Amino acid sequence: MSEVIIIGGGPAGLNCAYYLAKSGKDVILLEKHAFPVDKLCAGGLTVKDFEELPKDIIERAFVTQIIHTPLGKTTFKTSKPVIFTVNRRVLNKWLFERAKKAGTKIEKEKVIKINGNIIITKNGRQYNYCYLVGADGSTSIVRRHLNIPTKYAFIAWQTSIPFPLKDIEWFLDANVFGFGYGWIFPHKKSTVIGFVCSNPKNAFKAKTGFLHWLKKTHALVINSPFKPYLINTDYRGHHFGRIFLAGDAAGLASGLTGEGIYFALGSGRSIAQMILSKSNGQNLYNNLLKVKYRHQKAARALKCLPLPLLNTFFECFRNGLKIAFCRELIFKRYG
Ligand SMILES: Cc1cc2nc3c(=O)[nH]c(=O)nc-3n(C[C@H](O)[C@H](O)[C@H](O)COP(=O)(O)OP(=O)(O)OC[C@H]3O[C@@H](n4cnc5c(N)ncnc54)[C@H](O)[C@@H]3O)c2cc1C
Repeated sequence: MSEVIIIGGGPAGLNCAYYLAKSGKDVILLEKHAFPVDKLCAGGLTVKDFEELPKDIIERAFVTQIIHTPLGKTTFKTSKPVIFTVNRRVLNKWLFERAKKAGTKIEKEKVIKINGNIIITKNGRQYNYCYLVGADGSTSIVRRHLNIPTKYAFIAWQTSIPFPLKDIEWFLDANVFGFGYGWIFPHKKSTVIGFVCSNPKNAFKAKTGFLHWLKKTHALVINSPFKPYLINTDYRGHHFGRIFLAGDAAGLASGLTGEGIYFALGSGRSIAQMILSKSNGQNLYNNLLKVKYRHQKAARALKCLPLPLLNTFFECFRNGLKIAFCRELIFKRYG
């Protein structure tokens, strides 16, 4: 019997493991892939992520961002960098090494079944637990074991090109992405390009529209395939007796932007504090939920707008970003 079993070695699982192991708990983390895991992700972080992460993993820091809408583009600058890119493998390696050094036992096992208190893996191994943490991402087996449905999720498509572009860029057009958006996230030696669209059935149309836009604005012809991956934004609780859910497994990613690393790191840490019976555990989770609900409220309001009005909103948003006061307000609330 292990005190704590964590399923999933992403930011949520590894951060949870680190705080538990550091405090002397007996922790086993089960991850189906070999480390460092290279999950499909743009690797975009904002200032708030560095409450948990060291600055030396940053690949690029940006003071300039570009917003494109059907009627034009706006380039805006901030006095300090507000957005950063990291390599997901490097982030995963750093979190993995820290958790391992603190004493986490990490095993390469794919969990295929949870039977009461017993966890069964593909290799036929069985584990008993006192506490179980489901940090196994958007298709979480722990969430399914708890019978928690996932109704709200994004599907994001991503590819990369083997050279770095200059600035972070955002593409907003309700006729192409619906309520979603396209992005360009430059890294040190490459650039990640991707999009989310509000209706997955329109993915082909969104991809075609986006490719056309990229050709027009950057003379870019993308030949590499776009790979899809789910982002669960459907939060329905995180504490179920001796079982906890963290990160994407809990549906914590933002329903507005799809950002999830901040929520994964924070929820991993706060669940560790709850298991350690530290009084600040629930407070930490509540603070995350405050940010999550703020994003959710904005997302709901936008989703109520008919498509032509959504584009009018995007134009106002782009023009609003030209004003320093509005820009600061947006980053303070949603950055
Ligand atoms: C295309 C795309 C771009 C994104 N870009 C950004 C971005 O720029 N910024 C940002 O903040 N967020 C971004 N996100 C979201 C972000 O990647 C996730 O929110 C974040 O990775 C969630 O972390 P997690 O630890 O909860 O889950 P994950 O990172 O998904 O980790 C879960 C781990 O569990 C393992 N696992 C799953 N099932 C099992 C099993 N049965 N047994 C054992 N192991 C298992 C997986 O292999 C995985 O390593 C993006 C997502 C996508 C899809």
